[in-house]
Amino acid sequence: MSKVSERKESGETERMCIACRTVAPAKSLLRFVRANDGEVLFDAKASAPGRGAYLCADAACLSVAAKRGHFARAFEAPVVFDAQALAIQVKATLMKRAEENLGLAFKVGQCVPGRTKALLQVPTGNCLAIVIAEDLTENSVREIGEMTVPVLPGPDKAKMGHALGRGETGVVALLKGRISEQVMCDLQRSRRV
Ligand SMILES: [Zn+2]
Repeated sequence: MSKVSERKESGETERMCIACRTVAPAKSLLRFVRANDGEVLFDAKASAPGRGAYLCADAACLSVAAKRGHFARAFEAPVVFDAQALAIQVKATLMKRAEENLGLAFKVGQCVPGRTKALLQVPTGNCLAIVIAEDLTENSVREIGEMTVPVLPGPDKAKMGHALGRGETGVVALLKGRISEQVMCDLQRSRRV
């Protein structure tokens, strides 16, 4: 029996990955649409009209979908795409939006920058995740160590600082809230694409 269109109690819509057929909340997957000329496009907002094809946010599923013609089957039409270029586009789009939303989250108090202050948020129960700059040194990453919340790689220190309107920033805490949830969702999806 298909559970694809079932809604969980939380009201989360679920979709199936066209490659590995895993069913998961739609917002944890990547949605793609087919342009009129057949080009497969990443639908970052998951709101483009027409049929969508969903994939796990994982390079492996993208590669399987490319090799086995899953996109053409899902859209029931010929498609044009370059799997590698598509992966790069997905990653860049998610990272760019995460940067923009980090700035917004900071403005509304859903983001605490700076390692010491950020890590103090973890035990409060109000912290969703810790974001660390992708170019943070290995030593610093090791010092942060295991956390009771997810630790997600983000943009580099310069970009993270720029997004927050301050100098280079290596560590931020995301506090509970709608915007920081979006940042977390985008960073989680971008890490394995
Ligand atoms: Zn999959």
